[in-house]
Amino acid sequence: MNIKENDIIELLKSQDQFLRIASKTSVDNRISILKKLKSNIKTHEQDIIEAIYQDFQKPEFEVLTTELFVVYKELNLFIKNLKKWSKPKSVSPAWLNFPSSDKIHYVPWGKVLVIAPWNYPFQLAITPAIGAIACGNTVVLKPSEHAPHTADILKKIFDEVFEEQQAKVITGAVDTAKILLEQKWDYVFFTGSVPVGRIVSEQIAKHMTPHTLELGGKNPCIIDSTAKIDIAAKRICWGKFLNAGQTCIAPDYLMIDSKIKDEFQEKLISTLKEFYSESSYEDYTRLIHDAHYEKLTGFLKDLNIIYGGEYDAKTNFLAPTLVDSPDLSSPLMEEEIFGPILPIYSYSSFNELEEMISSFEKPLSLYVFSESKGFTNKVNETFDFGGGVINDTIVHFVNDKLPFGGVGASGIGNYHGRASFDTFTRKKPIVNRKTWLDIPIKYPPYTRVNSFK
Ligand code: NAD
Repeated sequence: MNIKENDIIELLKSQDQFLRIASKTSVDNRISILKKLKSNIKTHEQDIIEAIYQDFQKPEFEVLTTELFVVYKELNLFIKNLKKWSKPKSVSPAWLNFPSSDKIHYVPWGKVLVIAPWNYPFQLAITPAIGAIACGNTVVLKPSEHAPHTADILKKIFDEVFEEQQAKVITGAVDTAKILLEQKWDYVFFTGSVPVGRIVSEQIAKHMTPHTLELGGKNPCIIDSTAKIDIAAKRICWGKFLNAGQTCIAPDYLMIDSKIKDEFQEKLISTLKEFYSESSYEDYTRLIHDAHYEKLTGFLKDLNIIYGGEYDAKTNFLAPTLVDSPDLSSPLMEEEIFGPILPIYSYSSFNELEEMISSFEKPLSLYVFSESKGFTNKVNETFDFGGGVINDTIVHFVNDKLPFGGVGASGIGNYHGRASFDTFTRKKPIVNRKTWLDIPIKYPPYTRVNSFK
């Protein structure tokens, strides 16, 4: 544990004071601090790339595209739009209140706690923090203990950019998270697993704290017989094996129309051979820690492996692995896989598809590959999921105009771009009644009203 409870209590008192100083929380100040943050991240770009490599050998190109690019985009969007978004919005008054002028004000919640996972350790920690700070909240950010080098660089950046009254990184593991969750926050933003999401939500229920939970689940990926096989195989292998499958929105299992299953399986294998050099796997991330390695390699026992399956404990390496129709009661299918193992099933009717997908909780994402509009419409109407893509995987994440989040067990709430603004502000309605006219109809005695009958 890096910090004592008393230090956290003192920090929160200072954050409360910060929130009361209007000059510090003005929109102009928030925009300049976002600019300062952006330039500081630029200065530390190489340190970030190295930190994430040390944590789990993520290739530089993946850090640039899936961590830094997303963060710069979010910063640019807030820098450009914050003034416009923050303006109070006039709405037409209710005639019962005539005369009045009615407005919705967008106000910060106050003190925000952000708890982050390890899989995109920079981006998933800092993106919600950017939204929260931009909206005028203070932030305490706890990164994951499983990506310690990234946690250190996040702490360094925050220490260089912010006064701790405004935003602070507190590193530590579960015990630190528990102490943080015992405090009274105005908003909690949690990204992580479903079981821990449940614990977090129980913990903050005692203060009835509003929150967002960005969780996981088993994301289906459907390949219909009309799909363009070459492109589908490329896009699936990319979205699944990027970050070694340690992506919350990676396809968890494939459902392939039985008419094309053999052909598609062959295409997946040739695509994987094309993507990764089997001698070095240099463009391929390693598993985050020993326990995750043990769990995933343990899953492989008794499975029908049709490609991959090699592993190396020294480097926490597990090759991209395809498995044929594992039993639904196998450990692999009982929880989110969150690693480079891809189970492949076939279906012969829409009913079979429905039965399989509906046997799991509502997923964070769903993907469908098909050239038939009728089929993709039917899939989207039949299944409920956080967000989805037709003819690709995971790319909905990069459009900051799309709210990102889950449904049911895969999460509550959403963020990114304008959705982050909506998440990290509270809508505060104010009716400004005018005094130049006062229609007495609402006042007692009601005998006046009775005379209208
Ligand atoms: P995790 O739930 O184990 O940990 C997440 C964070 O919670 C960490 O900072 C950790 O220290 C903290 N934590 C762990 N146990 C805790 C407890 N008992 N009380 C309080 N805090 C606790 O998740 P992880 O292994 O870091 O990440 C993987 C999971 O996150 C996967 O399930 C994945 O699907 C999900 N995820 C979701 C999204 C999304 O945007 N929906 C993004 C990335 C990852």
